Amino acid sequence: MVFEKIIKSCRFLDPFQSYAPVEKTSEVRVDPLTGSTSRILDFPVKQLEKQDFGPIAEGTRQYCPFCPSMVEQITPKFDPSLVPEERYKQGEAICFPNAFPYDENGAVTVMSREHYIPIDGFSIHLIRDALECSARYLADLLPAQPEVVYQSINWNFLPLAGSSLVHPHLQVMSSSTATNYYATISRALKNYVSVHDGEFWTDLISEEEKIGERFIGNTDSVSWLTAFAPMGAFDVLGVLPRISAPAEIIGASAEEIAGALVEILRFMGSLNITSFNMAFYFKAGVGSFTPHIRLCPRIALPPLGTSEINYMKMLHGEPLTTMKPEDICLAIRDAWRP
Ligand SMILES: [Zn+2]
Repeated sequence: MVFEKIIKSCRFLDPFQSYAPVEKTSEVRVDPLTGSTSRILDFPVKQLEKQDFGPIAEGTRQYCPFCPSMVEQITPKFDPSLVPEERYKQGEAICFPNAFPYDENGAVTVMSREHYIPIDGFSIHLIRDALECSARYLADLLPAQPEVVYQSINWNFLPLAGSSLVHPHLQVMSSSTATNYYATISRALKNYVSVHDGEFWTDLISEEEKIGERFIGNTDSVSWLTAFAPMGAFDVLGVLPRISAPAEIIGASAEEIAGALVEILRFMGSLNITSFNMAFYFKAGVGSFTPHIRLCPRIALPPLGTSEINYMKMLHGEPLTTMKPEDICLAIRDAWRP
């Protein structure tokens, strides 16, 4: 497996050194599966400012549709011709149809009775129950709609990550149409199998474990690492080589994944990161799709709260970061020993 880095060197005359010539370098990294590129800049990482969501949490509590007094009054129920349960419930979690769908199957899983939970305040049971609720819904969809194979459990945490509500919730999708990510990955996996003996994800895990620079560790069913060519400021990847469908995470694996996510969320909190996006990808049926999780922080850069998503990611599809995946891996390992 090739982990290709193209080092770019840029020369200019530096006003801070009496216009002496200087050379600055950056890296273009090529994703070993898809060939997509990401850029790692050699800039010092600025300390992020801790954002206080207290006032936003208080200001939105009264009208929140996901708070316990409202959630069962004003959220939709599933059509009984599609799944056997009107709403899926477990612990504090409750899964119901998304009233603003963008696919043939879209659901929301409210994770907690509490209106606001900071990034480092999640418990294992809250995340486990929300994952299991979502997984049960996804599993129940397939008998009536075998074509909706692109199944994912997604999380926009807080407005900076695209959430319109503060109240913690997951977005659950099951579609017959691949997103760009699924299409790219599926194509690349097919190519990989045609030219290699093994399967990509198994090869990636064994290769990364051998190199050790980006390998965080193994839990029972998940291998955790930081992506060589990150899709965001950093990109924590959890690969589940022994699991194939959402129903299989119910029980021990959901508990284990929730435990790992709690650790990663706490780590992000320790860097004053307050928001993130997460996707947990499954693909039902044929082919060798290995379920995996990706989690990227969402960052507002001081002092103006500048979005980390600029023209490069938005219009060139090129992620840009100042955080080296190897440094992030070390820091996560220090904070959490799987
Ligand atoms: Zn609420």
